[in-house]
Amino acid sequence: MTAVPNELNPSRRILLGPGPSNVHPRVLRAMATPLVGHMDPEFIELMEEVKALLRAVFQTENEMTFPVSGTGSAGMETCLVNLLEPGEEILVCINGVFGMRMAEVAKRCGATVHTIETEWGKVFEPEQVKEALSGINPAVVAVVHAETSTGACQPLKPIADLAHEAGALFLADMVTSLGGMPVELDANGVDAAYSGSQKCLSCPPGLAPVSFNEKAMAKITGRSTTVQSWYLDVTLLNQYWGSARVYHHTEPISMNYALREALRLVAEEGLEARFARHRDISAALGAGLQALGLGLISQEGHRLPMMNTVTVPEGADAALVQKRLLSDYKIEVLGGLGRLAGKSWRVGLMGHSGQIENVVVFLTALEEILTDTGALSGPMGAAGAAAKKYRETIKG
Ligand SMILES: *Cc1c(COP(=O)(O)O)cnc(C)c1O
Repeated sequence: MTAVPNELNPSRRILLGPGPSNVHPRVLRAMATPLVGHMDPEFIELMEEVKALLRAVFQTENEMTFPVSGTGSAGMETCLVNLLEPGEEILVCINGVFGMRMAEVAKRCGATVHTIETEWGKVFEPEQVKEALSGINPAVVAVVHAETSTGACQPLKPIADLAHEAGALFLADMVTSLGGMPVELDANGVDAAYSGSQKCLSCPPGLAPVSFNEKAMAKITGRSTTVQSWYLDVTLLNQYWGSARVYHHTEPISMNYALREALRLVAEEGLEARFARHRDISAALGAGLQALGLGLISQEGHRLPMMNTVTVPEGADAALVQKRLLSDYKIEVLGGLGRLAGKSWRVGLMGHSGQIENVVVFLTALEEILTDTGALSGPMGAAGAAAKKYRETIKG
């Protein structure tokens, strides 16, 4: 007989990667509360509360705002599979990994996919999108608001206007931006958007908030073909999350408890205060990195506060630094994705992870590791000296 594994006892981590972020104890507590059935009147009330709280953070009046059961990618798939009919055209703006993923999903929806690209770390200028739109007839124009692979923040309104002039719906990936910066769905003219629970909402991964405005819903209800995915069919999901309450699938109860509590934390802090906290913490990190002589990859003026892509300095081993941060300091950051692999570290300051003490301990650890491995030679500050002493003591 195989031995029963030990009771789960995961290490404490400071999660400063691209998600998941650290989860507030109140959210963990909510997840550990007893289940009610998914058709229980108490759960139905909770569904309504979750929808209202999500509208506030999406900054929208959209009735059709709810969490899809699945991670951020399920939100992406939900939007694309519902908004695109086979044979229709889409323009996807690609400046990182998640734009590439959107193009791939759209292709699998049977759409004719047009793409434009910019250098990774940069954002799209309206002229480039305008040019790409001439001569094509897309049903959807799609962008990534907060490109987690590069740290760039795409301005939405000018692209939304161009999409609408071209008769297309405007779709935005807000997986990383939601809850950490303004997304202003309605003011920006975003017709459909999706997000994930584990980034700036600081919930565990497992739910994908989505929002569709009336124009997007009209497109979906007016389809001439059925949506290829039964599970992600928004018309069916609307009957479950809307007033009809027709059973579709079993909603992940505990995840909804978690999301509700996470959204309550957002509401208590207040959107403006929460956005300011992300900006302030990121500025603190930036100042510290600058003091170490390290730069950021993303375009100046379009940097995300919650995702800082740090340039790996000459002489540093990106993977080794990442490994030591985790083993010696319990800090998770991840390396660059795709074409930024080995060239950057992705330092996330998302939601509950965005605390000044996390920034200070990260900078201390980074300085100590870079100095110990010979990539930095300057004299260390007080905290770095303490970290160095500690390493010498424990490593002998
Ligand atoms: C994380 C992320 C996704 C994918 O979300 P998963 O929860 O990993 O499925 C999509 N887009 C962006 C911008 C992301 O950061």
